[in-house]
Amino acid sequence: MINEMNALVKAHAREGLWLQTAAVPEVGPDDVLIRINKTGICGTDIHIWNWDEWAQKTVPVPLITGHEFAGEIVELGRNVEGLTLGQRCSGEGHLIGKQSRQSRAGKFHLDPETRGIGVNEQGAFAEYLRLPAFNVVPLPDEISDDIGAILDPLGNAVHTTLSFDLLGEDVLITGAGPIGIMAAAVARHAGARNVVITDINQDRLDLATKVADVTPVNVTRTDLADIQAQLKITQGFDVGLEMSGNQIALDQMIEAMVMGGRIALLGIPPGKSPVDWSRIVFKAITLKGIYGREIFETWYKMIAMLQNGLDVSGIITHRFGVKDYDKGFAAMKSGHSGKVVLDWRTA
Ligand code: NAD
Ligand code: ZN
Repeated sequence: MINEMNALVKAHAREGLWLQTAAVPEVGPDDVLIRINKTGICGTDIHIWNWDEWAQKTVPVPLITGHEFAGEIVELGRNVEGLTLGQRCSGEGHLIGKQSRQSRAGKFHLDPETRGIGVNEQGAFAEYLRLPAFNVVPLPDEISDDIGAILDPLGNAVHTTLSFDLLGEDVLITGAGPIGIMAAAVARHAGARNVVITDINQDRLDLATKVADVTPVNVTRTDLADIQAQLKITQGFDVGLEMSGNQIALDQMIEAMVMGGRIALLGIPPGKSPVDWSRIVFKAITLKGIYGREIFETWYKMIAMLQNGLDVSGIITHRFGVKDYDKGFAAMKSGHSGKVVLDWRTA
């Protein structure tokens, strides 16, 4: 076994990431070693690249970044059962503890000890990744490595979107980033009647209509109320999925909801943001915060939907060999991309 590999490392406490050699991780008895084929660049990776305030207080240096991946198992720890060498896989990047009440109740996604690969622990932007066997999600043949590499954010979209019954409902999504757009595709697949998606970036809205059967609304030009009227959504949206992290978008959503509407919040506001609580009270709105994916129910549902016609492949707008990672990050930072996938077989 070779013991050195290429990896994208946060090697210095300043802007940037650096492609360096690093030691191939050693697997413990309950781990597997995964040879990485493809990885997705996430908004989180941009924060780490930019070395903003959040990154500075969260990410240790040096750290191999990245958490969205697909690859294949090349080594099994001695206790690992039920997985095989050569198995194609993706995996849950949230490493959970086993001691908390939530974990012991099987609600792994609610474990307060959760640590993220590529954020707190060595990550997936590398030729090899060590992962607890528990976190591995095998990929069926019909799911490509490209899609495997974006199952983490698709999982965010699926977790949020399936939080509430959508069959026959009118759904408003604020924020047509990669996750909002994938959520729109999932909402359609899950049987929503109308899916309306808002953004202030026209390129993103154009991409949304390529990926999913949605009504795009550029809120800088069009009044959401007019679109509601055109669609005959007389009393307001039944379900809201907040995927922008923007305060104005959330305010607009609350106004546009039906009495008794349900809102799932995935978007992360930059800091404290003011909320008109009385509107939420008088409209009897239910709010649900969403973090990560349900482990492993979201993965199960997501793979089942992909096998049953859910197609999000159009969300991948850029592909680069890893040596061109700076072009990939530039595309992400431009705000005009969907998902950007890096190929590690070219490392
Ligand atoms: P993104 O930043 O690519 O997309 C956000 C979109 O919101 C952008 O297209 C932006 O133009 C749009 N937007 C900004 N202001 C708006 C407004 N007033 N109205 C409508 N749209 C507006 O992000 P993404 O990668 O798609 O992720 C979506 C959100 O989810 C982000 O806030 C991200 O931080 C968050 N996130 C949360 C979790 C979690 O576990 N809770 C996981 C991943 C991402
Ligand atoms: Zn991510």
